Amino acid sequence: MSPFVASFMTGCVEVVCGPMFSGKTEELIRRVRRAQIAKQKIQIFKPALDDRYHETKVVSHSSQSVNAVSVECAIDILKKIYDSTRIVAIDEVQFFDEDIIKVVNKLSRRGVRVILAGLDQDYKGEPFGPIPHLMAIADDVTKVKAVCTSCGAPASKTHRKPSENSDQVLVGEADLYEARCTAHWDFQPKDEDLLAFSVGIDSTDQENLKVQN
Ligand code: ADP
Ligand code: MG
Repeated sequence: MSPFVASFMTGCVEVVCGPMFSGKTEELIRRVRRAQIAKQKIQIFKPALDDRYHETKVVSHSSQSVNAVSVECAIDILKKIYDSTRIVAIDEVQFFDEDIIKVVNKLSRRGVRVILAGLDQDYKGEPFGPIPHLMAIADDVTKVKAVCTSCGAPASKTHRKPSENSDQVLVGEADLYEARCTAHWDFQPKDEDLLAFSVGIDSTDQENLKVQN
């Protein structure tokens, strides 16, 4: 792209994140469709790792879809970008390697609007892959919520059904995962037990409270 073209176009980074079934892909598709209506040149990517529905489409749980290119690694995205592309949308961005951060920065500096969708946390509640960094550099972050499968409340957690595999990445669907609100998300990391001893009012505080009362 010539420096002249880049000089008057402002790039930006948008992140759409939340648990599984929260509508991240639907929101990505909605933004893609609006760009297509505006006749803006757009390219859509997804990690090859995520082959749950289709190799060359991004598909939502509500069966909406748009054509996409599967790539093995983040750098492959740069290799496939056309000079005329104004918008780049990437689904399941949490599955990419750390190079995705450089790729996103490079694209936005070139004046491209970058739309990213991905899981903010894994089933243990840990930030997922490059997502924390991408959220930090984003111009706009949208957190979407699913519906808790236990009580119907807004759900921001992903529950993994009992499985012998405890790896962070285990590609699956409703067979393996459920959306849960915090109250019904029963995963408890071992180190949280330690906090039980430090949380609460200690004896000195209790004495002080008595004096004030
Ligand atoms: P994500 O990309 O965040 O996993 P999708 O955009 O693919 O989510 O799908 C969202 C759709 O999933 C909803 O519109 C709804 O039709 C369906 N769905 C299935 N289970 C749930 C749930 N527990 N909460 C919300 N939506 C759900
Ligand atoms: Mg999705």
